Amino acid sequence: MNEENTNLPNVVMPVCPEVKMLKGQKALITGANSGIGKGVAIELAKAGADVVVNYRGGEQAAIELVEQIKTNCGVNAFAYQADVSNENDVKAMFEKMINEFGTIDILVNNAGLQKDAPIDEMTLEQWNTVINVNLTGQFLCAREAIKEFKRRGVREEISVAAGKIIHISSVHEVIPWAGHANYAASKGGVMLLMKSIAQEVAPFRIRVNNISPGAIRTPINTDAWRTPAAYNDLMKLIPYKRIGEVEDIGRAAAWLASDYADYINGTSIYIDGGMTLYPGFATGG
Ligand code: NAP
Repeated sequence: MNEENTNLPNVVMPVCPEVKMLKGQKALITGANSGIGKGVAIELAKAGADVVVNYRGGEQAAIELVEQIKTNCGVNAFAYQADVSNENDVKAMFEKMINEFGTIDILVNNAGLQKDAPIDEMTLEQWNTVINVNLTGQFLCAREAIKEFKRRGVREEISVAAGKIIHISSVHEVIPWAGHANYAASKGGVMLLMKSIAQEVAPFRIRVNNISPGAIRTPINTDAWRTPAAYNDLMKLIPYKRIGEVEDIGRAAAWLASDYADYINGTSIYIDGGMTLYPGFATGG
């Protein structure tokens, strides 16, 4: 054994300051009492943001999440009931947030639902409900956030941008989905809503992007993963051969909302284990 090597001093790591990417920022996450929204709220809070946990029906889950965030992350949080497809509810929610937190820096437009049916059996109510929540709800919240971002401008000590909007879209903004025409239409709409808003407000230093998940393990798609047979079937669509978890989305959202992602504007980030890679062609087609 080479004695010289055994006597090498240990490499001393410098003490790295703890990085809180979103310290001092104020975030609103819609539909945050469940699934992806909950995962995003936790990761934003871990990164130092104060958060508003919006919910529609699940009050108990929202209150529990707020307590968990306040206790574990040392940030401020409150729950707020609002239907994102209702204009008055949305306006009241932003008013409450600005009264409580002073302003908003980050909006995560996450609330969404499915009402599936074959196209020739789809009722107008199923169509309207999905479009109203998934698309109009994202418009209503984005509009209120942008009013505040423009009014306030950049707070240099907080972020180099005047505001950030993340729309939670879906791989179905580009992948057609038989039996789910209302859902795919809503997400395709979200894609061009996002790009059009991004183009319009970029000069105000407002960034607008999509996170477009593939299959993430949440209550919205239980049938796709709860039995081994269903899970194996799902894997045919996922080259990376695992379902996504809400943390996969939450961590990306925290980074995308931070100044580390400051030059990213008007784009969709697909977080899907490769679902958008046309897995059917993996063996040559
Ligand atoms: P989830 O667990 O069912 O959560 C949906 C959330 O939206 C719930 O918190 C729900 O609140 C809320 N919500 C529904 N309607 C609302 C309304 N009118 N106003 C306010 N909140 C409302 O489903 P998820 O999978 O986390 O879905 C979250 C988002 O991710 C949706 O936009 C969905 O399209 C998108 N997404 C999910 C996947 C996936 O694989 N899971 C994939 C791609 C995209 P209540 O419980 O109080 O009703």
